[in-house]
Amino acid sequence: MRLAFSLLLLAACTHSPTTAPPTVREVEVAVTVDDLPLHGPLLPGQTRLDLARGMLAVLARHHLPPVVGFVNGVRVEAFPDTRAVLETWRAAGQPLGNHGWSHRNLDQTELEPYLADITANEPLLEQLEPDAAARHFYRYPFLHEGADAARRRAVRDFLRQHGYRTAEVSLDGDGWAFSEPRVRCAAKGDQATLHRLHEQFVEVHVDELRRMRALGLQLEHRELRHVLLLHLGVAEVDALDGLLTAYEHEGVRWVSLGRALDDPFYAIDPDQGFRGGAAFPYLVAKARGVEARPIYLRGLEEQLEQVCR
Ligand SMILES: [Zn+2]
Repeated sequence: MRLAFSLLLLAACTHSPTTAPPTVREVEVAVTVDDLPLHGPLLPGQTRLDLARGMLAVLARHHLPPVVGFVNGVRVEAFPDTRAVLETWRAAGQPLGNHGWSHRNLDQTELEPYLADITANEPLLEQLEPDAAARHFYRYPFLHEGADAARRRAVRDFLRQHGYRTAEVSLDGDGWAFSEPRVRCAAKGDQATLHRLHEQFVEVHVDELRRMRALGLQLEHRELRHVLLLHLGVAEVDALDGLLTAYEHEGVRWVSLGRALDDPFYAIDPDQGFRGGAAFPYLVAKARGVEARPIYLRGLEEQLEQVCR
């Protein structure tokens, strides 16, 4: 039965006219980079500035529009030489936005200190970033926007009153979780696993892009513009060229963060708490009763935790 069906299919294919290659649907994506100037471990002999230069070179090679780097000023206070990372980022024409002075977790911080942490980051950003619109993009640390609706509303009101625009994320491939195993495998000289990690990084991010495009179609019946979350980490810098190339093959056209956030989708207010936080489409899905599991609930972090132990 199956053989007969296969032969029929083969015959159909053989006799069909020349088929055009499948059309790749275009999708607009903005890249953003969190945790400047310091995120995760380094490889032996590597500096924070090496990482930044590596990332900036790849962004330039792919001709990306300005990529906002989100800053935690406390790192510059603790490690003054990391200021050069921020200056190099700006010198390359890339903007700097606000990620809170000390990367506070809204699920674990009282409201007033959380808001004060946003304001505390402003003097450093004013020194480094002349563009007021750029430094008024705010990225919630851990993507935690509030475990309950009241907390969520309080922070949103504060951001609005202070001229901030929330830099929502729609594409989160857990990139941060790859850098620790990346460094462990390098220390062991395990080239096969390093290669596999690199491939997995790209695969996970392509999978998330496809999932979020599908979820966007389900929620809004159209192609959304997307915002990709990366960090200034070892594994992410290593895999960036492969990732951008793979995304371009998926139909991605690079746009600025402002352009992506102009999509009316990001003006939706799910107006409910979400403990643990997640990329924005998951919050909208939850508000509408649509089943969708954020990436950190799919076992990836647990699997990476075991790599090269
Ligand atoms: Zn962060």
